[in-house]
Amino acid sequence: MNNQIKKEIIKSLTVQREIFGDELFIPKKKRNTPVVKEPSANFGEQELFPQEKEDWEKTTSLDELEKLICNCTKCRLHKGRNKFVFGTGNPNADVLVIGEGPGAEEDKQGLPFVGRAGQLLTDMLRAIKFEREDVYIGNVVKCRPPENRTPLPDEMETCMPYLKKQCELIKPKLILCLGLTAARGLLKKRESLGDLRGKVFEYEGAKVMVTYHSAALLRNPHWKKDCWEDLKKFRKLYDAP
Ligand code: URA
Repeated sequence: MNNQIKKEIIKSLTVQREIFGDELFIPKKKRNTPVVKEPSANFGEQELFPQEKEDWEKTTSLDELEKLICNCTKCRLHKGRNKFVFGTGNPNADVLVIGEGPGAEEDKQGLPFVGRAGQLLTDMLRAIKFEREDVYIGNVVKCRPPENRTPLPDEMETCMPYLKKQCELIKPKLILCLGLTAARGLLKKRESLGDLRGKVFEYEGAKVMVTYHSAALLRNPHWKKDCWEDLKKFRKLYDAP
């Protein structure tokens, strides 16, 4: 196949994936396979053999949490990491912004959203009168996936408890999920981005909205108009909860 055609196909599939997620790529047969449940130690709601909490789960500040998890080796992503990207911002923020995972620049600096997509995120926040320092910015996975690929389900499952703990400590009133990975990680929803956008969800007492990832907006600037509508709605929720 000619390289130009290949490039066009990849570009079009990437756009589809940003809107619909991986669903389109899963063969039908697999989707219909009944899930065989593993026997579990749960009896109804009650855990018969409660697991001892790990030290990081008992932390009471973000600094303490970061110290305990920054050398994490629980999933394969740690192997390629230069820096663990914990998250940054106001530890008492009313607003938590969630991205997918570090890219090259974030991996180099150990800070989230510091590359091109980060600059756009700063502009998006400014447009609705938030400075980066006002909010807290974190990611679903804390280590850079190779070639910036989407984090795999087991990587997300391993890393999400860290983000949930961050959320427990920050206690935001509002959460903005950038893109499907963030939305799916937090809300456990399977809908497409198109279905999730514009709605208000709830997570542990916080209102949650979903919009386009700033990296996706760099690739598809014509989505900025819809994103602007989401951002205005998000700001309204903040001003008049
Ligand atoms: N994209 C993300 O999802 N997170 C970052 O930190 C940078 C780019």
